[in-house]
Amino acid sequence: MESIIRKSEQLSAITQISAGIAHEIKNPLTALKGFMQLGMANPDKIETYYEIMINEINRMEAIVCDFMLLAKPENSIELEDVNIENTISYILELFSTQIEDRKLNVHTRFDMENKHLQTDPKRLKQILINVIKNGLEAVAENGTLDILVKCEGHQASIRIQDDGKGLSEEQLNRLGEPFFTTKEDGTGLGIMVTKKMVSDLNGDIQYNSKVGEGTEVTVLLPSACK
Ligand code: ADP
Ligand code: MG
Repeated sequence: MESIIRKSEQLSAITQISAGIAHEIKNPLTALKGFMQLGMANPDKIETYYEIMINEINRMEAIVCDFMLLAKPENSIELEDVNIENTISYILELFSTQIEDRKLNVHTRFDMENKHLQTDPKRLKQILINVIKNGLEAVAENGTLDILVKCEGHQASIRIQDDGKGLSEEQLNRLGEPFFTTKEDGTGLGIMVTKKMVSDLNGDIQYNSKVGEGTEVTVLLPSACK
């Protein structure tokens, strides 16, 4: 009985997400078509239209990329020895232009004996990319992001704290809901993908936030510390 209920819950989640994807892709497609028609009628303005069209294409690309992470069949969990310091440096390098342009301060600390975790490297990387990206997007110019990695017994805890705009109670409750975004160019799929990957690793993700003060995200990975 329980498994039937779970199956139907899964199905309705899939239906909901598919409908959402179709809707989210249809909007930029409609815009693309409209601007192409406008461009044909007003060839002198084609460059402005191209810019809008590229933005719309980027949006569709972002939605498809996030969705593929969720749907990827490459699902086997590969536990490996991961140097967490290298993983975080690599991710910060990905965002270095944004960090430099907006003069953000990023501090990383490690409270553990050796900076190694036993975990699935691909999932860990994707989880941290999504959470760090959200933190960087939440802070104002000159904002701060603090990353603290520690081991408590066998459990690894990775805390990413920002002094950005924070989340209201209502927004906190909606985190992980497909397509929930407050950003103009957001997909609202990042946290859903992140939660799925954390649960693949039998871990947990917790959000603490105050509007105007910032947000603290903690990823807990049991038995990742030796
Ligand atoms: P997206 O980043 O594409 O909007 P996400 O699923 O990653 O989608 O995040 C959903 C929403 O959660 C964001 O639009 C934002 O409103 C909120 N959010 C997530 N992380 C933070 C954060 N660190 N600070 C403030 N708001 C956040
Ligand atoms: Mg995001």
